[in-house]
Amino acid sequence: MTRPSNTDNSRELTKEARYLDEVYNTVVTRNPNESEFHQAVALIFKSLLPILKKHPVYMEKGILEQLVEPERVITFRVPWMDDYGKVHVNRGFRVQFNSALGPYKGGLRFHPSVNVSIVKFLGLEQIIKNALTGQPIGGGKGGADFDPKGKSDNEIMRFCQSFMSELAKHIGPDTDIPAGDIGVGAKEIGYMFGQYKKMRGSFEAGVLTGKGIGYGGSLARKEATGYGLIYFVQEMLKDINLSINGSTVAVSGSGNVAIYAMEKAISLGAKVVACSDSNGFIYDENGLDLDTVKEIKEVNQDRIETYIDKHPSASYFEGCNGIWGIPCDVALPCATQNELDEASAKKLIENGVKAVAEGANMPSTPEAIELFIGNNISFGPAKAANAGGVAVSSLEMSQNSMRMSWSFEEVDAKLQQIMKNTYDACYAASEEFDVTGNLEIGSNIAGFKRVADAMVEQGLV
Ligand code: GLU
Repeated sequence: MTRPSNTDNSRELTKEARYLDEVYNTVVTRNPNESEFHQAVALIFKSLLPILKKHPVYMEKGILEQLVEPERVITFRVPWMDDYGKVHVNRGFRVQFNSALGPYKGGLRFHPSVNVSIVKFLGLEQIIKNALTGQPIGGGKGGADFDPKGKSDNEIMRFCQSFMSELAKHIGPDTDIPAGDIGVGAKEIGYMFGQYKKMRGSFEAGVLTGKGIGYGGSLARKEATGYGLIYFVQEMLKDINLSINGSTVAVSGSGNVAIYAMEKAISLGAKVVACSDSNGFIYDENGLDLDTVKEIKEVNQDRIETYIDKHPSASYFEGCNGIWGIPCDVALPCATQNELDEASAKKLIENGVKAVAEGANMPSTPEAIELFIGNNISFGPAKAANAGGVAVSSLEMSQNSMRMSWSFEEVDAKLQQIMKNTYDACYAASEEFDVTGNLEIGSNIAGFKRVADAMVEQGLV
């Protein structure tokens, strides 16, 4: 990992650059074997030199040291019994990272790769992302190393109940509000909500978001991350005099984010030519049929490979990286962290990609991001581009507090406005710090500033 201060061109390190290096080194020493967390810290720190110079108070008040140390990390045992009576034990996590702007807010990920490093990288990103939405929410994240793949409904229910039996001690509508992420959708949220309600003996709708529509969920929450991503891309393309209408789009993943990004892109006139799952990707130069993708993934929970049974004109390729070799105008990594590396970025650039926007969290490696920015490719970083999901989660909390629900159109209109505001905030910060159009730096600075100012105003607590 390059030094976070390496954006400073002067040969003598300034005191701000030294501060960045020192705090980063402490993070690495104090949290060994947490490479994803180190990566997320370095990504943010690389953008902060100019704002530290302009606002010395952040250094004087030790804001960076506080920002990178979670307020609380909770780890717990999750025992559950499978359908054959065998006992399994998974590890559950909740990182309550920062509450400067509001109660901790962020999803739960159920995936075998989940560990403290993954949860902390996601939690740190969530702080900045949530700040960018302009909503009153702090940052948190959680999950378990449980693999929902291949599990029966009853097994998933028992796991969710056991997970919530412990998590319930630490959350609440005014303290910490989990939601979904990879492996956690409305079904899992429902099982967890049921268990929480039973334990509390009261119906606290605002304790979880992403709930079913019938009991307090928000319309358009399911679509929000994907739709929001495309609203953000529309703003990016406007600034380079292009339009989503008529663009060729490649999307990795085929989960909730990818599916609704494809849906919005297609409805605005784009041609989506590829998507993937963890085994491989499908490609049709004439455009994919989204109904078939939805049927495979949302109804049958099958492999994306089966798409070609219904559409023999499409091709299936094993492995995930190859998707970035497909010529496209807009690339949307919507699968998982570090899925788009330097070699893939090179291929996209060679093939003439105009814009890359991240639907997943931290999907591009630092080297890939440098290539995009160095080659003047419009780059929409995750913490801004995929903020639509958590933004509508915050709208769900508002509706729950008011005990009412807005129409799909009302929520969608608010989402569009939030994504535009998010884009404008990132762009304005990039202009203010003389890197016009660099949304990577702009997003980190704009999000950081909102959190840092609140931390300064609230003192050491
Ligand atoms: N997991 C989503 C994210 O990465 C949504 C979190 C939420 O709705 O709280 O932002």
